[in-house]
Amino acid sequence: MRTVTLKNGKTLPALGMGTWNIGDSQSRRGEEIASLQAGIEAGMTVIDTAEMYGSGRSESLVGEAIADLRDDVYLVSKVTPSNASYDGVQKHCRASLRRLGTDRLDLYLLHWRGGVPLSETVRGMEQLRDDGLILDWGVSNFDTDDMEELDGITDACIANQVLYNLEYRGTEFDLLNEDRERGVMTMAYSPLGQGGDLLSHPAMKDVAKGHETSAGPATTAQIALAWVLRQKNVMAIPKAGSSKHLRENVLATEIELTPEDLATLDRAFAPPRRKTHLAMI
Ligand code: NAP
Repeated sequence: MRTVTLKNGKTLPALGMGTWNIGDSQSRRGEEIASLQAGIEAGMTVIDTAEMYGSGRSESLVGEAIADLRDDVYLVSKVTPSNASYDGVQKHCRASLRRLGTDRLDLYLLHWRGGVPLSETVRGMEQLRDDGLILDWGVSNFDTDDMEELDGITDACIANQVLYNLEYRGTEFDLLNEDRERGVMTMAYSPLGQGGDLLSHPAMKDVAKGHETSAGPATTAQIALAWVLRQKNVMAIPKAGSSKHLRENVLATEIELTPEDLATLDRAFAPPRRKTHLAMI
């Protein structure tokens, strides 16, 4: 498994698991839990969730899946901006911990910029860390100007979770490198383009034809993940609701894209030539 290294020296697998829209359907519950457990078994030990996902249902399902595996997992959750006051993060972090059935989060993220002054949210995060409820904290959907503002307050942020896939590569112009220089890990969300048009694009099919994994011919989902993972110190957090997708995604780490593959993908999905505002879903 490829790895990323945090500025605190901790090393994590570069492929983790997302959980948006998980826990919403009673009939899929068993399969979703099995998929997360298979992922942990396969070494994808980073699990990303948020209090907002299904109004806590994603966290509850993750809690059930990791009940006997907590120490094997690097657990990430997020606070919704309207709850990110000093008192709010104390209360909402504890509520997330209850749903997740654990006494600590490995990483707690501010989901996106809201109306609460950043310095107040940072104070709340630092208090949670001092109290041992979280081991580290970070942000999500922070563009270059937000990160510069944060630089003026603290250097304790360890991760920025942003939209990054072939269809949304604006961050390559500035944010990815700037965060790398800060020692802030990028967590790439929606790396499969949410399973949409990206996976049926002719250029993706073309590149997939040239690759094999230990389980057979490569798929376009594996190419999408290999493309994100080519970036140093970037983690991808695809969501897989089935063990079949999960197994396929793990094998993406076997694929090394060639310069010719990258040129094909650049022609189909142009790299950014100027600053664009950070896209978010
Ligand atoms: P994604 O991971 O790009 O795509 C998930 C979709 O792809 C699902 O429909 C899934 O279907 C499908 N899929 C998974 N593996 C596949 C495979 N091998 N072949 C074909 N289809 C496959 O999208 P995402 O869920 O938006 O993003 C991933 C995670 O990032 C989220 O779950 C969440 O944890 C996080 N996120 C964070 C933010 C933020 O603001 N911070 C925003 C969006 C997402 P099945 O479920 O049927 O497997």
